Amino acid sequence: MPSPAAPSRLTVDLDALAANWRVLRAEAAGAEVAAVVKADGYGMGAAEVAARLWAEGARSFFTARVAGGVALRRSLGPDRPATIYVLDGCPEAAAPALLASGLTPVLNSLEQIAHWRADGLGRPCALHIDTGMNRLGLSMAETRALDRQGLNLILVMSHLACGPDPSQPLNRRQAERFAEMRALFPEVRASLANSSGAFMGPDFRFDMVRPGISLYGGGPQDRPDPRLKAVATFEAQILQVRDVAAGESVGYGARFVAEEPRRVAVVGVGYADGVLRSAWPGGGAWFEGDVRPFAGRLSMDLATIDVTGCDAARPGRWVELFGPNLMIDDAASAWGTLALELLTRIGPRAERIYLSR
Ligand SMILES: *Cc1c(COP(=O)(O)O)cnc(C)c1O
Repeated sequence: MPSPAAPSRLTVDLDALAANWRVLRAEAAGAEVAAVVKADGYGMGAAEVAARLWAEGARSFFTARVAGGVALRRSLGPDRPATIYVLDGCPEAAAPALLASGLTPVLNSLEQIAHWRADGLGRPCALHIDTGMNRLGLSMAETRALDRQGLNLILVMSHLACGPDPSQPLNRRQAERFAEMRALFPEVRASLANSSGAFMGPDFRFDMVRPGISLYGGGPQDRPDPRLKAVATFEAQILQVRDVAAGESVGYGARFVAEEPRRVAVVGVGYADGVLRSAWPGGGAWFEGDVRPFAGRLSMDLATIDVTGCDAARPGRWVELFGPNLMIDDAASAWGTLALELLTRIGPRAERIYLSR
């Protein structure tokens, strides 16, 4: 139904999410599959995503922020006692909030370890070890010297810097370093792989894999993977169709010039909704069997699409920015970014629709 109140919509196919979950379960070959639901479930809605994945058997979830973990605990409720890991760990003064919601901090530094040791009441925690990304985590030297007194460690983890590129030698080096580090904690479970690592075979699996983007349909190598289904369909409605005479320009800066007569559809989505300005030139929208290029710069609330020769384009019809006909990895490369950014940038104006059997 045309919805003039919201000319953009995000449809989240929870059955496709569940199908991707099962692909990752098979790939994990017995290792646990934890679901990463940071940034509100990659923009898909952490509550809806986690509820469906819990029903499919997921028991561990990762958020980035403490607040994300608090919200997730509330939405899952007492009947779904998941382990919720918080990747930010235990920043100063965060322990009470972590404890109140039964969250498991992924401790990233000696300072955070001191906070949790002092205020964590011996509750479970995880440890992040840096094996080459030089972002969060204890260094390997700090890990070797770690005094574990008073820490109830249930997981040690690290994170790959170059997962989408399996030819990068750093991947294997990180797996080797992590194997050496986890051997210091033989009774504690271990996790290295994100989505891309989850597809890299047994040396990367350890006891748990932590996919995010591939649950939501993004390929492990930043390109579409035929095993994974589109979860997000982002669409915008045509508001007006106009004929542009040869020599006329379209949009801000008059940067698109019609060399011959063109037909342009103006759709109700813009960079305020997450269609990056870098989507032009290069990107487009799928409509009636073809990807049709953007014609001119994106505006805050509007985009213009070249629908020359397509009689079906008329106000009220919907075009697909990405979805089953234009996979997020392909749209992302046309926009000069990654599928993760596409999903997490979708703005609040888009109506949310959830599909489920
Ligand atoms: C975001 C994140 C993941 C999930 O990454 P994907 O590439 O989306 O699968 C896993 N682990 C950590 C530490 C992360 O920050």
